[in-house]
Amino acid sequence: MNYFLAIIGGGPAGYTAAEMASKAGKDVVLFEQNALGGTCLNVGCIPTKSLLYGAKQYYNATHAQKYGVTAENVAFDFAAMQKRKTIVVRKLVAGIKQRLNNEHCTVVNGVASVAPPTQTLPSGEEGGIIQIVCNGETYEAENLMICTGSTNFVPPIPGIKDNPAVWDSTDALAATELPKSIIIVGGGVIGMEFATLYHELGVPVTVIEAMPTILPNLDQEIVQVLLDKYRKAGIRILTSTKVESLDGGKVTANGEVYEAEKVLVSVGRRANLQGLEALQDLELERGAIKVDEFCKTNLPNVYACGDVTGKIMLAHVASRQAEVAVGRMLKQIPLQRIAYNAIPSVVYTNPEIASVGLTEQQVRDFYTEMEGAAGIEKAGGVETFYEVKKLPMTFSGRFMVENEGETGLCKVIIERRNQTIVGVHCIGNPCSEFISAASFAVRNGYTVAEFRQVVFPHPTVSEILHEIL
Ligand code: NAD
Repeated sequence: MNYFLAIIGGGPAGYTAAEMASKAGKDVVLFEQNALGGTCLNVGCIPTKSLLYGAKQYYNATHAQKYGVTAENVAFDFAAMQKRKTIVVRKLVAGIKQRLNNEHCTVVNGVASVAPPTQTLPSGEEGGIIQIVCNGETYEAENLMICTGSTNFVPPIPGIKDNPAVWDSTDALAATELPKSIIIVGGGVIGMEFATLYHELGVPVTVIEAMPTILPNLDQEIVQVLLDKYRKAGIRILTSTKVESLDGGKVTANGEVYEAEKVLVSVGRRANLQGLEALQDLELERGAIKVDEFCKTNLPNVYACGDVTGKIMLAHVASRQAEVAVGRMLKQIPLQRIAYNAIPSVVYTNPEIASVGLTEQQVRDFYTEMEGAAGIEKAGGVETFYEVKKLPMTFSGRFMVENEGETGLCKVIIERRNQTIVGVHCIGNPCSEFISAASFAVRNGYTVAEFRQVVFPHPTVSEILHEIL
């Protein structure tokens, strides 16, 4: 059978594309070597959030006195948390399977690879037939979408390989018992979310980060609020600290030796390119597949979406890329594009961090490069080309009610000249639930005056977005 679209990888990019193209009446075959749902659903977003929710329940129960509630003999059962996580994941995987079945999409379980070119592909002309081999069968398709995702990067640190004390995030999620202590190498998103999980469950945590700060891509004033809280709570966070070697659970960094039962290495992820060897002319960029604004690769009829493109490694970016790519493939009018400048992101620490758009540092660097300075000299000092509006989260009544003793911060970055909102950054629960309102403003280029007209329900923490303007 000749398919319209063959998709390799059944994560958020792959299953979104499969469902959309099938719904449009196209014959689609999707290859997945593991369970549908990819990293996000099976060993990423969903399982971590499930465990983090359990940890938060425990943490809240043990800190309930501030709300006038005394809970005695509070305990947790890590194995039960794991079991619940597995059930949630299983149900969601089954849901995806059902959705694809409903659309009559062919799902093949196995390791797929692109066959060496037999007909016109990849000659540079449209219209070739692409052959995919899986489980000894050959499948033919007019279009190929590569959604093979990414895997944890293992840095070339002496003593890291085959070290039984070393975990990656997948190992940590599979563990049935908590470690007695843990060192986390890499204070990025994965590192800080696991630091939160272990800390809330009473495990001593040390985070070792090579850069001068954790979460280096986020607004640093926001990150500082988290750093202050976590350090005060007893999480040891070492920055500008480079791991030199490992020996079991002993980690040598900046000449000092730190020791824990387990060492979780979370220093980034790399694109999965296995099975694509036949696409010899496929253009890569920094180890990932180079794509255009519609997720087209340099080869005719070959698209790539999700982590394998190395753009922004987030599930919601992957699924949006898939929508845009399928829209392009189906020649839908108007052609949609991805607003990479308005992708919201959340770090599920406690408190959560949510952000969209440019950080203060990025805007400052942009103007410094463009104009030679971040602002102009005026009487009374420098007037920056951008404005930063800030409010503590405690300005929100609902935040005060539900976050006793907690601090938080909301920042809005505005281009001074045209009053356009270019970035919003928050720390404080539950900012993950309202950052999409800010994304809408950034996506549509709202000015302060326009966004001010949006009504937020009272009392909600989201009102901070109105108060701040
Ligand atoms: P990351 O890029 O977010 O962080 C890696 C960190 O490791 C960086 O801070 C880096 O400076 C540090 N590092 C690198 N080499 C080091 C070394 N040798 N020693 C010490 N520190 C070192 O990567 P990640 O945390 O592994 O996450 C991978 C991807 O998954 C990211 O793109 C992330 O956005 C995504 N993710 C997203 C979420 C979410 O949206 N909530 C959750 C988990 C993962």
